[in-house]
Amino acid sequence: MLSDLIIIGGGASGFMGAITAISNGLRSVVILEGTSKVLEKVRISGGGRCNLTNSCCEISNLVNNYPRGEKQLIGLFNRFSTSDAFDWFQKQGLSLKIEKDGRVFPCSDSSEDVISCLTNVAKKSGVKVFINSHVKQIRITKKGFNLSVKGNNYYEAKKVLICTGSHPSGRRLAMSLGHSIIQPVPSLFSFSTSENYLKSCSGISLDAQIKLTINKKKYVDKGPILITHRGFSGPVILRLSAFSARDLYANKYNGEIKINWLCMSEVEVRSKLDLFKLKNSKKFLINNKPFNKLPRSLWNALLLSLSIDRQLKWSDISKYQKESLIKCLIMNSYLINSRGPFGEEFVTAGGVSLKEINFKTMESKICKGLFFAGEVLDIDGITGGFNFQHCWTSAWVAGNSMVPK
Ligand SMILES: Cc1cc2nc3c(=O)[nH]c(=O)nc-3n(C[C@H](O)[C@H](O)[C@H](O)COP(=O)(O)OP(=O)(O)OC[C@H]3O[C@@H](n4cnc5c(N)ncnc54)[C@H](O)[C@@H]3O)c2cc1C
Repeated sequence: MLSDLIIIGGGASGFMGAITAISNGLRSVVILEGTSKVLEKVRISGGGRCNLTNSCCEISNLVNNYPRGEKQLIGLFNRFSTSDAFDWFQKQGLSLKIEKDGRVFPCSDSSEDVISCLTNVAKKSGVKVFINSHVKQIRITKKGFNLSVKGNNYYEAKKVLICTGSHPSGRRLAMSLGHSIIQPVPSLFSFSTSENYLKSCSGISLDAQIKLTINKKKYVDKGPILITHRGFSGPVILRLSAFSARDLYANKYNGEIKINWLCMSEVEVRSKLDLFKLKNSKKFLINNKPFNKLPRSLWNALLLSLSIDRQLKWSDISKYQKESLIKCLIMNSYLINSRGPFGEEFVTAGGVSLKEINFKTMESKICKGLFFAGEVLDIDGITGGFNFQHCWTSAWVAGNSMVPK
């Protein structure tokens, strides 16, 4: 049977593309999912809660959350943005909530509800879903496309939408139809360091200013950093890992980070420290830290790293010790030597080259009738619901542009 549309991949973008296309008038829409379960990444996303979008609405701010695809997303978000995705899910009966930091979750805090919402709407609309249907090959025919599926099954469709996420097979299918691929590299990961003295502080999270240097290239950011027993993680580190993903990959994940633990200038730190020293001259360093923000274990670890005796009284600290303490507080340096284990979110930077896509329709410029949406493209965002948002948006635009006008 010749379908109007076959979607390869039953993930976030596959479902949004299918539902949009069928609700716009396409008669036969089929999703072919290679594994035995659809929407598996939705299930594990956001620690099982699924952070499905963000409350950031201003498009000029929204696109800043995408290290790759920023320019192309401007036009796409003008058509289907975060507030549209929010309304779309609410309209389908999924209640959503916005957390303080702008992340959007289902009110139930369960990704299962996002899955039920998408699968129920797809079923009601008449989308056919076939699991265990890994697409091995696509051939162009007179009527459209012929897809060969594992187990010697064949499907025919007038149009094809590739939504295979970061799976290499999707990139291979795209290449077989003439597309070029921007080399995939990991994004959104933590940093490992071999410096051990911070291990006692693992679990501490605080706002800090970070300067990351890879070869001669510098990246600067500010935000919550989490000390782990291997190095550093937390929102600011994941963000830096995304924006520097290609440079870090090229440099085999070696780099240097300088941390300003207090987000203060040298002058501010020096004057606060001098005043504290004056007022607390008879007190011991160990129990009396000049900066409330700094957790006690981190204060102790920093003193230890400088070999400053913690039993010293403030009046006995030498000028040299004071200066090294100031330096350590505002630009402590750590060598990164590898990529840490993945954070709760992890995406692939790279994929189908954006030059070959018409972003008004998501159709290939190389192969008529072939469309792309989601992570298979060279577009990725930072944590906060931005990756799913790009999936909803690109798939919605694709689903809308397949309907004969
Ligand atoms: C642990 C984790 C947590 C995450 N949490 C969040 C979060 O909270 N918020 C957020 O915005 N982003 C999150 N992300 C990122 C987000 O999950 C992805 O960006 C998103 O799932 C990509 O959707 P997609 O539809 O493009 O691809 P996918 O969800 O990967 O779906 C692709 C589907 O295609 C199938 N497939 C692949 N090749 C073939 C083939 N040849 N034939 C048939 N089927 C095929 C795959 O089996 C898969 O089901 C997280 C990622 C991870 C790994």
